[in-house]
Amino acid sequence: MATPRTNPSASPCNLCPRKCGALRDRGQRGYCGAGAEIRAARAALHYWEEPPISGEDGSGTVFFTYCPLRCVYCQNRTIAEGEAGCTLEAGQLADAFLSLQEQGALNVNCVTPTHYSPQIAEAVSKARSRGLHLPIVWNTSGYELPEVVEWLDGTVDVYLADFKYADEELARHYSNAPDYPEVALRAIASMVETAGTPAYDDYHGQRRMVSGVVVRHMVLPGAVEHSLKAVELLYRTFGDDVLYSIMNQYTPVMAESVSARFPELAKRVDAQDYARVLDFADEMGLDDYFWQDGPAAEESFIPRWDGTGLGQVLP
Ligand code: SF4
Repeated sequence: MATPRTNPSASPCNLCPRKCGALRDRGQRGYCGAGAEIRAARAALHYWEEPPISGEDGSGTVFFTYCPLRCVYCQNRTIAEGEAGCTLEAGQLADAFLSLQEQGALNVNCVTPTHYSPQIAEAVSKARSRGLHLPIVWNTSGYELPEVVEWLDGTVDVYLADFKYADEELARHYSNAPDYPEVALRAIASMVETAGTPAYDDYHGQRRMVSGVVVRHMVLPGAVEHSLKAVELLYRTFGDDVLYSIMNQYTPVMAESVSARFPELAKRVDAQDYARVLDFADEMGLDDYFWQDGPAAEESFIPRWDGTGLGQVLP
C-alpha cells in the first residue's frame, strides 16, 4: 500500500484540484457545492457501463450529489447542481452498498465520489466489516489529485476515469479548469500505479473487472480534432496499461440559458465524426477498446433521482 503524501482533508477542503479550502465542517460549501454531509440521489443496479463493469446482472451504482468539475454540458446536471439528493451517514451508505451486493451487483460503483472521499472510504470499511466483498469502482471525471488517489489505495479497486480534454482552452471554456489535461494525466498515472493493469475474475458466469483502470473519452459535438488529439495523447502516455472507452453518448440536456451561450453543444455527435475517431484509434494501435453502437444515450436513460436504494424517497 502506498504511503499518502498528505492526508486528504474535507475541512478546509483539499480533496480535489480546486483546493478551494471550504470549511465544510463549519457550514461552508465548496466550489463543488458539497458541505459536511454525504448527499446521494440513487443507489441501484445500472446496466449501461462497459461490459466487464455492468456484466449482465448490473453494476451497483451510487450517484453522489454535487461535482467539483461542473462541465456546462453535464449529463447529470440535476444532481451535479444539488437539485436532488438525500443526506446520509457513512453507516447508511454502507447499508446501501450491502443492499446492492444482495441484489446481485458485480461491484459497488461510486459515481462522482471525489468530494466525499473520506466518508466513502469510511463507509466501505464499515461495509467490509459486515461482509461486503465486491470490488469498489471509482467513477470519476478524472479531475483528481494524485495524493488522494494514493490515499484511496486499499479502498478502490477499479477506476472508471474520464479523460475529457487534451486541450487547456477547451477545458477552460467548458469546465473552468484549464489545468484539467495535466491534472487528469497525473491522476490517471496514479490510478495505474495503485490499481495496476486490468484483471478479471468470473463472477456468477460473468467476466468481471476486479482491478485496473478504464479511461473514457466522450466525443463532443464539433470537436472531432480535439478527440483525435486526446486519443493520441492517452495512448502515447498509457499504452496498453489501461482499457479505453471511446463514447458517443453525448446528449444535450443543458438549460436554455446555457445552450444559448454554447450553441455548438445543442446537438448530438455527428456519426461520421465518431467513426473518424474510432478509425484513428484503430490506426494508433488500440486493439481492444470499448465503443458505442448507435446513439447510446437517450434522455430516458438518465436515471430517476428519486432516492432509490437509499432508504429515502425524494420528490
Ligand atoms: S472537493 Fe469541493 S469543497 Fe473540496 S476542494 Fe474540491 S471543490 Fe472545494
